[in-house]
Amino acid sequence: MTQTDLTRLTATEIAGLVAAGETSAVEVTQAHLDRIAAVDDRVNAFLHVDGEGALAAARAVDARRAAGEELGPLAGVPVAVKDVLTTKGVPTTVGSKILQGWRPPYDSTIVRRLREAGTVMLGKTNMDEFAMGSSTEYSAYGPTHNPWDLSRIPGGSGGGSAAALAAYEAPLAIGSDTGGSIRQPGAVTGTVGAKPTYGGTSRYGLVAFSSSLDTPGPCARTVLDAALLHEVIGGHDPRDSTSIPQPVPDVVAAARRGATGDLTGVRLGIVSEFTGEGAEPGVLAAFRESVDTLTKLGAEIVEVSCPNFKYALPAYYLIAPSECSSNLARFDGVRFGLRVGDDGNRSLEEVMSLTREAGFGPEVKRRLMIGTYALSSGYYDAYYGQAQKVRTLISRDFAAAFERVDALISPTTPFVAFPIGARTADPYQMYLADLFTIPTNLYGGPGISVPCGLSDGLPVGLQVMAPTMADDRMYRVAAALESAVGTFTPPAL
Ligand code: GLN
Repeated sequence: MTQTDLTRLTATEIAGLVAAGETSAVEVTQAHLDRIAAVDDRVNAFLHVDGEGALAAARAVDARRAAGEELGPLAGVPVAVKDVLTTKGVPTTVGSKILQGWRPPYDSTIVRRLREAGTVMLGKTNMDEFAMGSSTEYSAYGPTHNPWDLSRIPGGSGGGSAAALAAYEAPLAIGSDTGGSIRQPGAVTGTVGAKPTYGGTSRYGLVAFSSSLDTPGPCARTVLDAALLHEVIGGHDPRDSTSIPQPVPDVVAAARRGATGDLTGVRLGIVSEFTGEGAEPGVLAAFRESVDTLTKLGAEIVEVSCPNFKYALPAYYLIAPSECSSNLARFDGVRFGLRVGDDGNRSLEEVMSLTREAGFGPEVKRRLMIGTYALSSGYYDAYYGQAQKVRTLISRDFAAAFERVDALISPTTPFVAFPIGARTADPYQMYLADLFTIPTNLYGGPGISVPCGLSDGLPVGLQVMAPTMADDRMYRVAAALESAVGTFTPPAL
């Protein structure tokens, strides 16, 4: 098999070939490192490539196989990790200047589990600074380019992970989703992105943005690959106090079941608030076609109203900034990364202030100011408190909907990948990218984006939202749709 062929395989196929001895983990890893070397100057999906570490991990897998050891389902498969997760000894910047040069002394739980499963970490992927953004343009290290059209954004904040998949630089990737940062990049790059139930994947070692919303999760080119990765990284972690002490829902079995293309007896709700205003006609057309396809697969479609979803965006933009204004207080120039102006004459406060002034980009500063304001005495009830009440109402909308249907569906994003620079002037235009994904985060349930069609040659994603800890349901529906519409291949780079 040629190197190019190896980079076109799914994770499932790679693991099968490695286990059968038909290729080696080293060979697969080298093929992906070479692909990165060939295309990443144009894509900029990676902030750091750990070639040596990857080859060492691959050699270890090959040695275990040679010794006759049983390998896990993803052993030998390369994976790209969003730069929001700590990696022992490997730079972790969160897309920010403030952490430039920081090498964490420990692995996040997700990364530890990836290593234990024998996956091969290729490196760390580009992202909007502190995961705040929808286009990866707010990275302090330059934007990532969408492999479908290099002049367009790959979504965000996890645009690097999604672009790495679409550019065949990695067959698997990890993202984190606070308001849509796994699903929206998945949608606009024609890849699969799943946000697990909040607490279903560990936040230990995930650099915090908004702790009550942040959810790490799997990204892949197929639903089954995402499910396999989900199973490897998910499950209870005593190091995360919000981790759910229950087994991972059986997402792999659900993906396999879905792939048979039979959705008989499954009731899917269309969120009526999400199919009109605000979405591009091409996106709505692809969505409607998918609804027809799902019907043909046997699903029963009903319309459900979630009247409070229209308040999700404003509520999110109070809750997330509030939490980040507290979380980001730890970046003070004392403990991690950048330290500015410490010339021996300045006070500690001045050094902190200069460090934060130089280290944070404009979007992060905007969020810190909004959050600090929303939490300030006299405004707390009117802003943060009110937003929390809206959050409860949105959860009730979900609960009521799930009394009637097994899962909800919508377009993942209102628009396809937009040109780089098109939405940076007006923050609200950028925030709209997550119109359809944010309610799920406020509720805490799982959501997945699966490619469902093209609009003007650019990918469109369909979102499936399920009740908390029913992640398996969304995999089943997504895999069924995938079995009918297939996967989407970008033009050659
Ligand atoms: N785009 C949203 C924001 O800017 C969501 C980001 C995310 O999920 N990390 O906050």
